[in-house]
Amino acid sequence: MLTKSDFIKFIQCKKYLWLFKNRKDLLPEEVDENLQKIFAEGYKIETYAYKLFPEGQNAQVEEFKESIFKTTKLVEEKAPTIFQPTFSAKNLFCRCDILKLADNGESHDIYEVKSSTSVKDINIYDMAFQKICSEGAGLKVGKIFIYHINNKYVRAGEIEPDKLLELEDVTDQVKHLEEETKLQIEKALKIIEGKDEPDQRILKQCDKPYECTLLGHCWKDIPKKSIYSIAGRLNEKKLNMLLDEGIVEIKDIPEGVVTSKAGLRHLNAEKTGEVHIEKDNIKDELEKLEYPLYFLDYETFYPGVPLFDGYRPYQHMTYQYSLHVQEKEGAELKHYEYLAKGWEDPSPGLAKELKKLIGKKGTVLAWNMSFEKGCNREMGERYPEFAEFFEDINNRMFDLMSIFRKGFYVHKDFHGGASIKKVLPVLCPDLSYSEMDIHEGATASNKWGDMIDPETSKQDAEKIYNDLIKYCELDTFAMVRILEELRKVFSLSSRTKR
Ligand code: SF4
Repeated sequence: MLTKSDFIKFIQCKKYLWLFKNRKDLLPEEVDENLQKIFAEGYKIETYAYKLFPEGQNAQVEEFKESIFKTTKLVEEKAPTIFQPTFSAKNLFCRCDILKLADNGESHDIYEVKSSTSVKDINIYDMAFQKICSEGAGLKVGKIFIYHINNKYVRAGEIEPDKLLELEDVTDQVKHLEEETKLQIEKALKIIEGKDEPDQRILKQCDKPYECTLLGHCWKDIPKKSIYSIAGRLNEKKLNMLLDEGIVEIKDIPEGVVTSKAGLRHLNAEKTGEVHIEKDNIKDELEKLEYPLYFLDYETFYPGVPLFDGYRPYQHMTYQYSLHVQEKEGAELKHYEYLAKGWEDPSPGLAKELKKLIGKKGTVLAWNMSFEKGCNREMGERYPEFAEFFEDINNRMFDLMSIFRKGFYVHKDFHGGASIKKVLPVLCPDLSYSEMDIHEGATASNKWGDMIDPETSKQDAEKIYNDLIKYCELDTFAMVRILEELRKVFSLSSRTKR
């Protein structure tokens, strides 16, 4: 039996399909919490699509055979709209999102709901599979549509499903891919029946669209310093070329393959073990800093269905800042924090408090500042009374990450990255995120959503509040310490204590 989701797995990675069917022991017992949130948001979006078909009847029941039976009955009764219609044809099985009886009263149009903001190639394979399977079960398919999120929609009052969702007719694209899909279905069925784990080169498929749950199995023999971790990443053509030669380790990459500046510096650091430091460039960068220094970091939440008025789907809602301030060189470090707690737009409260803390002079340091700048710009657009303040701090922002991203400081143990999570353990090994209950951005974001959810218990909400405060504070203190380490290159400053 090949289900719709099996087939999608096969299109993304044939090895995944085989492992999924034949090595259940390798699959995680529970779906990752962040992935669960993504799925939950998808279901939420689907319910808004249902609202566009008020006459819809649900065909889904617990037992899949009963779902097929109920679907057949509703189709025979010419029900105008069926939710979750289920079909089985030979060895294929699929459940569509919405089936609508066409105006001719004979054929049915298929509607799929996607939480993405556009139609992707993989979605066309998905729809072609649904067409082949439902037609195999005797359905006469008319048109095929995909609802996806309209990223221009701005919430104003209650969610308007017809504005939140955009409809795209993909009938012709699906027809175009139908024969190819039939061939792929045959291949997928053969893969499932195969006795041995299929060979599959590791290219881009392992972390797109989500990190594969089988990384632990497939990557167990990949060395830590592999061709996949070179700074700037190698494209698939180059990866294939190296794999053809049996090259997996960075140290074996021949000359001429890595051409980007950052990649070459990383390669050299790996091969020689030397730390690459461009003193003059770092000095030029650090001379741009002006006291007081404000080390700023935001955390955001970005649901597909906007929670509050004024937001677009997936637009970042800034709910937290951590701010470390140093008035002048050698001065005591001060820390400030803000974390919105209530079920309301967090931006105005956050902006009001931040405005009290950041003065008219001095540099605002961020790590990957385009993110903080974007949050500031959008908060200023939604609340014009703060537009000037945010514009001013954006004009005074300095990106501490740029020193690492530009390759002015390269250490082999950054593993080709420039994120704070890669740099901090090397420059400041006494500081670590690993002991924290929240230790990366996606979890922080989802946890805030849980914290403000009225259904979360007071005790759980308090724990999340404390975890978020600790996590965000480390982000800015890490910047303070990394700056100190950079200055030590020139013996410019001593260590700061919290
Ligand atoms: S880890 Fe990569 S190669 Fe392995 S099953 Fe997942 S996507 Fe395929």
